Amino acid sequence: MDFELSDELSSLRQTVRRLAQEKIKPRAREIDMTGAYPQDLFDEFKKADLLGLCIPEEYGGSSAGIMGLTLAIEEVTKYSNVLGLMLLLTRLPTGPIMIAGTEEQKLRYLPGIANGTQRAAFCLSEPGAGSDVAGMQTRVVEDPDVTGGFLLSGTKCWISGGMQADWFVVFAKTGDPASRLHTGIGAFIVHADAAGLTRPRVDKKMGVRGIDTAEIVFADVKVAPNQVIGGGFALVMQSLNAMRPIVAARGLGLAEGALMYAVDYVKSRAAFGKTIAEFQGIQWEIAKCATEIEAARLLTYRAAALADEGKFTKEYVPMLSMCKYYASEVAVKASGLAVQLLGAAGYMEEHPVELYYRDAAQLRIVEGTSQIQLSLIAKGVLGHDLWWD
Ligand SMILES: Cc1cc2nc3c(=O)[nH]c(=O)nc-3n(C[C@H](O)[C@H](O)[C@H](O)COP(=O)(O)OP(=O)(O)OC[C@H]3O[C@@H](n4cnc5c(N)ncnc54)[C@H](O)[C@@H]3O)c2cc1C
Repeated sequence: MDFELSDELSSLRQTVRRLAQEKIKPRAREIDMTGAYPQDLFDEFKKADLLGLCIPEEYGGSSAGIMGLTLAIEEVTKYSNVLGLMLLLTRLPTGPIMIAGTEEQKLRYLPGIANGTQRAAFCLSEPGAGSDVAGMQTRVVEDPDVTGGFLLSGTKCWISGGMQADWFVVFAKTGDPASRLHTGIGAFIVHADAAGLTRPRVDKKMGVRGIDTAEIVFADVKVAPNQVIGGGFALVMQSLNAMRPIVAARGLGLAEGALMYAVDYVKSRAAFGKTIAEFQGIQWEIAKCATEIEAARLLTYRAAALADEGKFTKEYVPMLSMCKYYASEVAVKASGLAVQLLGAAGYMEEHPVELYYRDAAQLRIVEGTSQIQLSLIAKGVLGHDLWWD
């Protein structure tokens, strides 16, 4: 058992930490206020070669793996959850292609993400089916004009990066939309400029402003045979399982950022003739939060290592879910504590902690809510998949 990062990963972490402090930290509040997509920071990621961290070298990436991306996202999210999301979006839609795509699809779609000439989004959720993936109604039917091709119809919602995406990975039912058969779901690549695809609505959000979530509507959109990934419900789950440490990294980084800020504040804020950092009641809250952050880090890094080793079978699923569940909850708790430690100042826009708090709430919802993660963990315990005997 080795708790040290390799030299490459330590150096990656240092590089991203510097970039986050110099370029991202000064911009975070403005991005939240304007809600404008931070193209300049996308360009910084591109320049620093951070858009292909999780993409193998043979497809234009740097093969830093899920662990590399996890570390980078943690550093970035210490200052901005939006920029953490920007990096996350290099993996979420490329995942199904890396897992189940053809060689031709990998060569066609992955290099553009790695070199920053393309962006993509992941379309799973629907107005009537979020947690209940098998309840999706988006469907494909065979294209009568193209052998092996399909026509895709349906509505996807809350799609992160939906307005910027050049292409989408879309999950749809391949048979009767009312069927809950796990084999009756497939993944398809759809180009943003395809006829029949529209993006009619952008959501007004409580946080993570700067990367839109959008509604994407598909009306008989043609999907060519070479845009079919296939996969079934198992591909949905493996794609999401590989993402657990990457989402958790946002929670971890956000919690660290919030606590670091609050600690600096309490050391300078005076009350009752001393700094509030000198009160034991305050110190204990800080100590408990720091302990929870370290626990979240261990769960997250281990999950990233498991994911990089391709360990997705049922005995590993609870461990992947634990990191996402716990780091998201710690993010909400740490940012809530930070608001409290700053008192009225924490409630105001002059300080970033209210922004951390609003941004953290998203993490308990996306890519499997906390309740869904708890169900997966419980299944592993009740089924004796997890450390039994
Ligand atoms: C900012 C943001 C960005 C997003 N980006 C994307 C994206 O890029 N792509 C995408 O496909 N989706 C995206 N989503 C959607 C997200 O994945 C869904 O919101 C999530 O899966 C939950 O689905 P839902 O909102 O329909 O909640 P519901 O499934 O309706 O759940 C509502 C509540 O009921 C609870 N619940 C549901 N089922 C159970 C159960 N079996 N046991 C216990 N509790 C249960 C949930 O935990 C939740 O608290 C995004 C959402 C947000 C907020």
